[in-house]
Amino acid sequence: MRININENFGKIKQNYLFSDIAARVNAYKEKNPEADIIRLGIGDVTLPLPAPSVRAMEAASKEMGVKDTFRGYPPEYGYDFLREAISRHYASLGTDIKPSEVFVSDGAKSDLGNLVDIMGDNEIIIPDPVYPVYVDSNLMCGRKATLVPGSADNGFLPMPPGKKGDPAVIYICSPNNPTGAVYGFDGLKAWVDYALETGSLIIFDAAYEAFITEDVPHTIYQIPCADTCAIEVSSFSKFAGFTGTRCGWTVIPDGLESNGTKIAALWARRQATKFNGVSYPVQRAAEAALTEEGVKACMENIAYYRKNASMLSELLKSNGIFFTGGVNSPYVWLKCPNGMSGWEFFDLLLEKYGIVGTPGEGFGEAGSGFFRLTAFGSAEATAEACRRLSAL
Ligand code: PLP
Repeated sequence: MRININENFGKIKQNYLFSDIAARVNAYKEKNPEADIIRLGIGDVTLPLPAPSVRAMEAASKEMGVKDTFRGYPPEYGYDFLREAISRHYASLGTDIKPSEVFVSDGAKSDLGNLVDIMGDNEIIIPDPVYPVYVDSNLMCGRKATLVPGSADNGFLPMPPGKKGDPAVIYICSPNNPTGAVYGFDGLKAWVDYALETGSLIIFDAAYEAFITEDVPHTIYQIPCADTCAIEVSSFSKFAGFTGTRCGWTVIPDGLESNGTKIAALWARRQATKFNGVSYPVQRAAEAALTEEGVKACMENIAYYRKNASMLSELLKSNGIFFTGGVNSPYVWLKCPNGMSGWEFFDLLLEKYGIVGTPGEGFGEAGSGFFRLTAFGSAEATAEACRRLSAL
């Protein structure tokens, strides 16, 4: 063929992180077939779906097998029953989001990656380290991001640039993956104020909202005037264990417009053209996760992961190791000892203690020398990892 391809793909750093990790673990296992390896590297849930969601999915699947209740293409923006349930979720957080402002999708990753379709050329601001999808999806369409570095000094919660710049698209993930750090009301308000003053848009990723226990914002719409400068993307993945079931949503408030164009209208057009909706049984399962009984079941699973997170953070605390996360997040983000790089620490943990984590280098330059452990493993494996680590 002689077609022109998208040359921007050549600018994306190949992310070998998880294949590098797998290769190192496999090599170690070959040499040590008896080794009992504990995996605290995954960002995927391990507990099964909450029972109310399973029941709802079963009932909806049966409906699909009966002529009178069969449904074809779902509405592009989600069934009303789910948009209304998500709107009630926002009401429970003291915010006012109308069902028509909610766009249901097959997960937060798709929306975060696809939102670039409706943006023109702007400055892009992204805190570092962070979930790599924001940087990569901008690079794919030829846009380059300015990274705002997190560090131990700012608790991995970088603040807006001191100098007010041009209007920008700003990505914020709170609670953050990988650092587990979460903005308080003042920190998030500083970003909203910056966006309002500069005419910028914030894309707020609330995928880990359900892990919040402290008095910090669950949604950006708890900050005054955020509904005039922010889109929020969220997910059933971590809240209800939907990583394999696939459902999420994006909120675009009616008041969000740029130079007189409604942002929601662009997104609606984009979705109607390129997306054909989420299956009926999955949307029923998502709706069930937001019922009183569903929320209770989801929070039981989250409580299980939280206990793992506090086991890990207690261990680090008692050893005086700097870390963020562990509270309000399934991630614990620690400084590697003795100035080691994330990869050096990875090898040490694997070879001496049989523990697999994720080197911070995989999440951006500012992640160098840090390491992510996750609370998504079993309680037994996490306790055993803590026992082994206490010898470190
Ligand atoms: N946002 C963040 C910060 C994540 O860490 C992840 C997945 O790990 C996602 C979004 C993706 O969510 P979903 O499963 O809904 O696509």
